[in-house]
Amino acid sequence: MRRSAKGNVGILERDKALHRIVYISKGQSMEFNRLIMPEQKLEEAKVENNLRPQVLADYVGQEKTVEKLKIFIDAAKIRSEALDHVLLYGPPGLGKTTLAQIIANEMDADIKITSGPAIERPGDLAAILSNLKPGDVLFIDEIHRLNRLVEEVLYPAMEDCALDIMIGKGQGAKSVRIDLAKFTLVGATTRAGMLTSPLRDRFGVICKLDLYNNQDLTKIVKRSAGIMDIVIDDSAALEIARRSRGTPRIVNRLLKRVSDYSLVKYDGNINKEIADAALEMLEIDELGLDLVDRKLLLALAEKFDGGPVGISNIAANIGEARETIEDVYEPYLMQIGFIARTPRGRVMLRRAYQHLGIEVLMQDNSEQLSLES
Ligand code: ADP
Repeated sequence: MRRSAKGNVGILERDKALHRIVYISKGQSMEFNRLIMPEQKLEEAKVENNLRPQVLADYVGQEKTVEKLKIFIDAAKIRSEALDHVLLYGPPGLGKTTLAQIIANEMDADIKITSGPAIERPGDLAAILSNLKPGDVLFIDEIHRLNRLVEEVLYPAMEDCALDIMIGKGQGAKSVRIDLAKFTLVGATTRAGMLTSPLRDRFGVICKLDLYNNQDLTKIVKRSAGIMDIVIDDSAALEIARRSRGTPRIVNRLLKRVSDYSLVKYDGNINKEIADAALEMLEIDELGLDLVDRKLLLALAEKFDGGPVGISNIAANIGEARETIEDVYEPYLMQIGFIARTPRGRVMLRRAYQHLGIEVLMQDNSEQLSLES
C-alpha cells in the first residue's frame, strides 16, 4: 500500500476512516509560504485527516448546507438509491473535502478522491468511472479545472450512468454506450462561476459554503485541541478563532503553531497571553491579516488612491496571481468590510484605512459602491 496525501502522487487506500477512501491523483508540487494560506500543505494532510469530522453531527457550522444534505441523504437512503450529484463551492479550507467524505460515510459508501487537474485525458476519467461500484462516491476537487474533453465524458455519466466510447477512427468510427454503476459525484470548486452550465446543471444539490463565524471557529479550535491533546482555555480558543479568517483549515494550522510555541517556551498548554504572544511572533494581527494582506491594502491605498482598480493591476503590483487574490485574499477582506468589488474595480473602504492607521481625506465613494453581487 502506498501512502499519499491529497494532491500528492499515487493511490492511497486508507482503512482508518469509517469507509474505504481511495485517492487518485497525480503529483502537483505547490509552494506554500503563508501561514494563513487556506491551501492545504502536504505535510498537513495527515494531521488534517485525523481532525476531519466523520459524520454530519460532528460537522460544525454551515447549518443550511448540513440541513439540506441531511434531508437528501435520508431520502436517498429511504429509497435505497445513490444520492444525487452534489456540488460544493466556496473558498479553500472551508470543509468541502470533509463534507464529501462525510457524505460517503453517511451513505455507507466508499469514496474515490481525485481532482480536476489530475485527470488529464478522457480515458483517465473513463477508467475511474468504470471502476465505480453501485453507490460509490466520486469526489472531484477543483472540478472547474477539468479540461473540456474530459468534462464531456462526465455528462452522460452523470445523467444516464453511461459512458459513450468511440471505437475506430475516421468514417468507420462508431460510438458505443457502456453502462456504469449508479454513483454519486461530489464536485468541489472555489470558482462556481467558472463551471460550464452543462456541468453545473447536472448537479442535483448545490451547496455554497460560507466563511465561518467566530463562535463556530472557536468550537473547531476546541474540538481539534481535544483530538490533539492540547489544553487550551476559552479566551485563547476565541483568540485563535478570531485570527483565522473564517477558515477551519487556518484554525487548525494556527492551533498547531501556537501549541508548538507553548511547548518550547512554556508547558504546551495555551492561555490567552501565550496565544497572543505566539500570534504576534507569527505576524498575524488581531484580525488575522498577515504581511501579504497588508501589502495588498497598502498598494491599494498608496499606489491606486484606494481604487477603483482592476484586479490584474493589483496582482501585478504585489506579485501575486490574480486567482490567488480572488480565491484567498478577497473573500475575507470583503467579509470584514475592508474592500469592495465594484463594476469599475476594487475599492478600499474606510475600515481598512482605519486599521492600517492611514489618514485620508475620504472622498465620497458611495457612487462607486454599487456592489456587484
Ligand atoms: P476544503 O476541501 O474546502 O479545502 P477541507 O475539507 O480539506 O477543506 O477542510 C480543512 C480542514 O478543516 C479539515 O481537515 C477539517 O479538520 C477542518 N474542517 C473543515 N470544516 C470543518 C467543520 N465544519 N467542522 C470541523 N472541522 C472542519
